[in-house]
Amino acid sequence: MPVTSVSKPSIKPDTPVTYVKGVGPKRAEALAEIGIRTFTDLIYYFPRRYLDRSTITKISRLKVGEQATIVGEVTTQRLVRTARRSFYEIFIKDDSGLMSCIWFNGVKYIQNVFKAGDLVAMHSRVEFFNGPRFVHPDYDRLETAEWDSTLHTARIIPLYPTTAELKKVALDSRGFRRLLRPIVDKFEWAFDEILPFQTISRLKLLSINEGFRQIHFPETLEILEKSQVRFKFEELFYLELMLGVKKAGIKASRKTFQYPNAGSLIKQVYEKIPFALTIAQKRVVHEIWDDMKSSEVMNRLLQGDVGSGKTIVALLCASIAIGNGFQVAFMAPTEILAEQHYRNLKVFADLVGIEISVLIGGQKKTERDEILQSIQSGKAQLVVGTHALIQEGVEFKNLSLVIIDEQHRFGVLQRGTLIGKGLNPDVLVMTATPIPRTLSMTLYGDMDVSILDEMPSQKGKIVTKLVNEDRIAEAYNLIREQVKKRFQAYIVYPLIEESEKIDLKAATQGFEYLQRSVFSEFKLALLHGGMSPAEKDDIMRQFIAGTVNILVSTTVIEVGMDNPKATVMLIENAERFGLTQIHQLRGRIGRGKTDGICILVERKRTEISQRRLQTILSTTDGFEISEEDLKLRGPGEFYGARQHGFLKMKIADLITDKELLKVARSEAFDLLKSDPHLRKQENIRVRNHLLTNYSEYMDFVNIL
Ligand code: ADP
Ligand code: MG
Repeated sequence: MPVTSVSKPSIKPDTPVTYVKGVGPKRAEALAEIGIRTFTDLIYYFPRRYLDRSTITKISRLKVGEQATIVGEVTTQRLVRTARRSFYEIFIKDDSGLMSCIWFNGVKYIQNVFKAGDLVAMHSRVEFFNGPRFVHPDYDRLETAEWDSTLHTARIIPLYPTTAELKKVALDSRGFRRLLRPIVDKFEWAFDEILPFQTISRLKLLSINEGFRQIHFPETLEILEKSQVRFKFEELFYLELMLGVKKAGIKASRKTFQYPNAGSLIKQVYEKIPFALTIAQKRVVHEIWDDMKSSEVMNRLLQGDVGSGKTIVALLCASIAIGNGFQVAFMAPTEILAEQHYRNLKVFADLVGIEISVLIGGQKKTERDEILQSIQSGKAQLVVGTHALIQEGVEFKNLSLVIIDEQHRFGVLQRGTLIGKGLNPDVLVMTATPIPRTLSMTLYGDMDVSILDEMPSQKGKIVTKLVNEDRIAEAYNLIREQVKKRFQAYIVYPLIEESEKIDLKAATQGFEYLQRSVFSEFKLALLHGGMSPAEKDDIMRQFIAGTVNILVSTTVIEVGMDNPKATVMLIENAERFGLTQIHQLRGRIGRGKTDGICILVERKRTEISQRRLQTILSTTDGFEISEEDLKLRGPGEFYGARQHGFLKMKIADLITDKELLKVARSEAFDLLKSDPHLRKQENIRVRNHLLTNYSEYMDFVNIL
């Protein structure tokens, strides 16, 4: 970040934290652990909460079940041993009463944290346990100078996030205040404003330096809020500016090819389709064709629920490119899906004489060489594969369209890789995740969006049922009935990254138990992410061929397995899944014309899980479900792998700050309209800040 010091050039933004008074090598190391290396990192380390008189509850007024913060003095503390469980107890006193705070865990540590007379703030839910108590409260040590209860207007005290490691070097919340207070008070530093002055005055935002002062040590609650708005806006503004630059950059890179007309091949393909396209499908094909015939490069996202018929849309568009003598790459997230796409597309390709090939691992070298050769010569017109298609040494003769079937995973297309090969094709990304609009504006802010919001009518319906453990036998019977009728079933166990091993164990044990004790008359198979692609492939094939009746798996099947004979799915520990995930999972059944049954087994009921699962029962509208997911679980769910780096917000929240996001977007896009390359004198700082902090996310774009 560019900065010039105003008066005393003692601290610059990129000065290492070790130059900050009070930071030695040990602290520097602990700070580096949480990403604080420079002065800038430190000053952008914002408080997580604030303490002020209005947020404090008198001990005598505490109500069981409510979240509350108390401030008082430590009186006594003791280790309590009971027959069942020992715990550590600390008593806090304010002018209204005495409160007990207890710790069952980490006793060794907590024993040494407080001494009698310490002024502390404790924050937790009031529990009832032989009287009202705080159990494992969040605590902060205060200084009497900071919190003088006799003063009418006590200060607002910032509380900083901290970790066990930081606490070891006395960087608890109080430690951070001690570090930052002199910096903010003495003002031996000054940042250059990084927002456009016009924007600041139009939106009446605090300046950057005033913002830093107030966000760390606010004078009033009103100005605190203004400082938070300032930094939220700053974050969102640069996010949108980066997306705007990226979008403009893609558009500005002109196509090296042109389609004179749609050609006759699309008509031939169209005539072979055994069903009538939905209105949405027709609309979307037109939207894409408009992009294809434009001289600007296409970067379009096609959103459509599972089963909305994206593949046929992709095929129609591909046949325009092929009909004009170009090649098309069709990429799937996994090899199994690539093969499946290949099989489905080949039916049409053969009917109209399109040369189609598939490139996946496990092909014999001679076969592979032959395919590579045909891609290079241009003989292969439609090439299906995984992302490896554009990454490895695959040479295309004249690639004009890349179609990426992401399902629910947000991969990043490295356009740079293509450009490096002298290619700048149109790109169509397809996703089955219905992304709420606010989020798609950010996640895919650099793309144009088409939506397939209509389902083909002749598909089977899916009935979803919720059962608890007591009714599990009933659920198993439902499966048994279906399998006896020669249909097939999925049984899915949750898989959460952090505890992959535990979950795998759940699936493995579940599989063994089910095979032995519940469905011994059927053939079950287990599928999980730890298997090699070949093993997975093998099991999937057996399942599709019908030799396996029931497939027990972790969520690996989510990514689009198509078996029309599978009519029933049981999801274990449904409360642990994201709603969108369940929605996608159940899209795997009822793929044929027969109705499907999805059974959700709820093992642990909470208020939230109940509300969430209720949503799944009451609607099959993917957008509605994803909105609910977003409200209840936050956006992490949707970010997945897609460029999550730039979505790591320090202070802004893409959901609760939705309105601010809109303002930031229009400010950023307006700025780019008036100065596309940010070359005007007054925008130099903005440009520099963008380049220094965001260029890694802009991929190949170098219009600046
Ligand atoms: P997804 O959007 O999940 O990729 P697919 O493209 O795989 O969906 O389509 C799901 C199924 O619906 C396929 O069997 C496909 O042939 C069929 N399908 C697609 N469009 C229509 C339509 N307009 N009418 C009837 N069936 C359709
Ligand atoms: Mg699909």
